[in-house]
Amino acid sequence: MTRQADGSGGNKGGSGRLDDVVARARRERDERLKGYRELSLRIHPWVCGRCGRSFTRENLHLLTVHHKDHNHDNNPLDGSNWENLCIYCHDNEHARYLDHQAGAGVASGTPSDGRQDATNRPFERLKDLLKPK
Ligand SMILES: [Zn+2]
Ligand SMILES: [Zn+2]
Repeated sequence: MTRQADGSGGNKGGSGRLDDVVARARRERDERLKGYRELSLRIHPWVCGRCGRSFTRENLHLLTVHHKDHNHDNNPLDGSNWENLCIYCHDNEHARYLDHQAGAGVASGTPSDGRQDATNRPFERLKDLLKPK
């Protein structure tokens, strides 16, 4: 799997307002992430912990840092809560976690219309981005 990520990001048209929110949240998140991402990349090898894909400086932006316990505020400096994951595996990981939560009966008031099965789920990412500190 050496397909080039196209970075198309899922611009589906529609509400530009959401795009704004996402863009801003992304920037704020980037600011916040900078610290531990760099640290994690320094501690851990540039390899996805799931699929084993390795990264270089050119595509390092596709390698993200995942919090093993899903708590973004838990950042031990020894890196024990961080895992380097490529963006695909990272998305997967979070989708699974959310599915698990939903399955466990967490009341979220999300309407379960079966039409939300698209692989691209911008709102899940948004939820993650907007997570309060
Ligand atoms: Zn991966
Ligand atoms: Zn994560």
